[in-house]
Amino acid sequence: METFDVIVIGGSVSGAPTAMLLARQGHKVLLVEKSVFPRDTNSTHFIWPRGISYLNRWGVADHILDSTPHYRNMEVNIEGISLVGSIPLEDLKQRFRKLHGDDRGVIDYYCGPRRYFLDNHLLNCAKAAGVDVREGVTYNNPVVENGRVVGINASRQNGTAISARAKLVIGADGRFSRFVKDVGSKDKDFRALSTFAYFSYFSGIDKEELSIHKKGRFGTAIFPTLDKTHMVLVYGPTAYWEDFRKNAEQNFFDIYRFCAPDVAKLIENGTRTEAFKAASRMEAFQREPHGPGWALVGDAGSFKDQVTAMGISHSFRDAELISGYIHRALAGEFELDEALEQYQKVRTADYVDYFDLVCKTAEMNGYSKDDLKYFYSIKNDQAMVDQMLSQFGDTLPPTAGVAATLLADSEYPGFITDFDPARHPSSFPLSSFGAADHANNDLPEEVVV
Ligand SMILES: Cc1cc2nc3c(=O)[nH]c(=O)nc-3n(C[C@H](O)[C@H](O)[C@H](O)COP(=O)(O)OP(=O)(O)OC[C@H]3O[C@@H](n4cnc5c(N)ncnc54)[C@H](O)[C@@H]3O)c2cc1C
Repeated sequence: METFDVIVIGGSVSGAPTAMLLARQGHKVLLVEKSVFPRDTNSTHFIWPRGISYLNRWGVADHILDSTPHYRNMEVNIEGISLVGSIPLEDLKQRFRKLHGDDRGVIDYYCGPRRYFLDNHLLNCAKAAGVDVREGVTYNNPVVENGRVVGINASRQNGTAISARAKLVIGADGRFSRFVKDVGSKDKDFRALSTFAYFSYFSGIDKEELSIHKKGRFGTAIFPTLDKTHMVLVYGPTAYWEDFRKNAEQNFFDIYRFCAPDVAKLIENGTRTEAFKAASRMEAFQREPHGPGWALVGDAGSFKDQVTAMGISHSFRDAELISGYIHRALAGEFELDEALEQYQKVRTADYVDYFDLVCKTAEMNGYSKDDLKYFYSIKNDQAMVDQMLSQFGDTLPPTAGVAATLLADSEYPGFITDFDPARHPSSFPLSSFGAADHANNDLPEEVVV
């Protein structure tokens, strides 16, 4: 049987960088990936400056930035209140210093590279670092001895078997991870409420930068990506999905017009270049991220809704954190189990508040009058807008700032006086939506789509 220091299952945005960083530190790494790259995946692909900074730290960002439009400014528009700003570089540097001990390579760009391009690039970087990458190889089950995972059994597409041993097996096989079931990792937190997402790509749109619009219980996003196309997305509560899907394309445009009429015109004048993609539900969880001889990174360890577009950046974070601890363990500084315990502690500390923020945002409840007064009060205060964006971009912690500083006496526009979040969803102008059936907070515990 072949023997490695580490085996990584899954070669996407968590697995490939984890394997690459370990190989660069001199470790013998096997990566098995069931697909053959390049391949696309059912995910949009906005990457915050925090995520791009990881790529830059690892020296692999140039290929992405050379081909993908990238910017510093972005717009978040909430009920017509336009907040335009960027993530302050110094806040970002501080976050890296706190988590990783230095701010090497930190940059304040964001961009949205297509996944077939990003994932393929990262897998190529893993190969270049010396990882033994085997595509078209599916992990089947762990090899366990005395209660400890010591390797894997896998198979090639033609059915031939592969068995390999390692000191550690890392599951980077995504939110539906088979490895998680096999090692029995338990959910430590589970949130049922999530969004549906419906998106495609359009050419012929002249619009720079990311623009997010939120109105009532719906949201939209648009950003430029490869080949002069734009990724265009609408989203709303999963409870609306059954209604939405009855006339999905029409509802896609109607929601865009409802949330952002000016941007909707640009999209209507563009040309859709490929089929729509959809995700109907995205329940969030956090799992035990390690056990005897195994560990989890990326979505296998914790998945959360697409609503704040943070999964890729957090996959990169996991890769850098775990590879650092494993390297120190393999170099003899700690026991492996102790290193994984450190990984868990540091990752949890970095993550727990943000996970909560995403889950609350994913409920897609209308904003309260106080929320809107707050957003209105900060819209001309650049530092406050940047602070808010930094919180959503997981640069500043979400517990400091927003909502703590509601300015009760500030001026706000007339329409906000009339705003009633409980009534607002029914103002959505589509007859095909039983909007009245979906008043705030009436989402079922489980929605089977
Ligand atoms: C609709 C939607 C929109 C999103 N939008 C964004 C966004 O804009 N920005 C953002 O940052 N995040 C976004 N995300 C989240 C992001 O897609 C994930 O967080 C990210 O892909 C996680 O990467 P991963 O490597 O952990 O898992 P995955 O990307 O799921 O990769 C798992 C890999 O493991 C392989 N694999 C699985 N099983 C096996 C097996 N048995 N053997 C071998 N290989 C296996 C798979 O082929 C795959 O390549 C979105 C998610 C969804 C659902």
